[in-house]
Amino acid sequence: MESSILFVSLGPGNPDLITLKAMKVLRKADVIFCPSTKSRQGQSVSRSADILRELEISSQSIRLFHVPMSKNRADAMQAYDKVREEATAAYQNGKNVVIVAEGDSGFYSSIHYIYDKFVADGIPVSRIAGIPAFIAAGALAGLHVVKQEEKLIVLPGIVEADELQEYLEKGMTVVIMKLSQCTETIQAFIAAHPMQTYHYFENVGTEKEYYSCDPTELQAKVYPYFSLMIIK
Ligand code: SAH
Repeated sequence: MESSILFVSLGPGNPDLITLKAMKVLRKADVIFCPSTKSRQGQSVSRSADILRELEISSQSIRLFHVPMSKNRADAMQAYDKVREEATAAYQNGKNVVIVAEGDSGFYSSIHYIYDKFVADGIPVSRIAGIPAFIAAGALAGLHVVKQEEKLIVLPGIVEADELQEYLEKGMTVVIMKLSQCTETIQAFIAAHPMQTYHYFENVGTEKEYYSCDPTELQAKVYPYFSLMIIK
């Protein structure tokens, strides 16, 4: 393995959607730092760890780290700093160190914070690309996310109706990530703009995978964290 700390993308959920390159690196890793969060019921949940388990990566190498989801980012930063320290120590002891993220590790992935710190500290890092959830979603629905001269815009859950309308009037395809953060705006928008097509996806690549483009249903649905929308 190259001597650097490796940021490995795991793909959206289905273990088959990982790259061969990522798989080879995971098999050789001594330590794999893997993010987890707390469910509403207080249980530790980690989509990344679920993927690693399905890929039969030895659980002995996996180090779960808890990332608080609160709006107070200082808590999350503290968690990342701890990972950074442990990963640095393991790397300096000659271990093969990997940090994983779902989807692509360079696409709205909060571990960029750790990556940037390593760069600032002069620790060599590299990244292995992966399939982002919205690309897997397009395949699931048989959508050409963009074709010919079309343009694409990706919005990270921060959405204003006027802005959205402007993009769609220009014929752009809009991807909304972190949909649960803008439920009310989107549901009101669907009601006000029935001519658009709203492709809704949940838990792409997992057993709970769900797709719908029924506007009535989408106006009433509770959008979970792992949901996104493609509007055309
Ligand atoms: N790095 C990830 C994105 C992380 S941001 C990627 O490349 O896809 C987290 C957001 O991604 C979630 O709020 C949701 O909008 C989306 N997401 C990630 N995985 C998903 C999945 N399996 N199904 C649907 N949406 C998903």
